[in-house]
Amino acid sequence: MPKTYRDIYSGLVRLHVLHHASRELIYGLEMMRELRHHGYHLGPGTLYPLLHGMEASGLLRSKITNGPGRPRRVYTVTAAGRRALKEGHEKVRELLREMDED
Ligand SMILES: [Zn+2]
Repeated sequence: MPKTYRDIYSGLVRLHVLHHASRELIYGLEMMRELRHHGYHLGPGTLYPLLHGMEASGLLRSKITNGPGRPRRVYTVTAAGRRALKEGHEKVRELLREMDED
């Protein structure tokens, strides 16, 4: 993916992550599949640092779960993450409204 596209998509990818993390616990591999659905092909080398960065900036928090399989790190949205999602949602809606005008 060209660098210019990466810059444009990075915010959209983060909004996807916040959206899903606001509905259920998410984990890296599942999120990677989900994003692929939407046409974002992120490898673990991109997605894991992204999740980590969102946690470091207070939008997500994580814990290790010991399910039936091997332990995995799961993420959920924080209160700050919910606010960011709400604002992002409004901004995307406004952008779409303008883009769809003509
Ligand atoms: Zn999605």
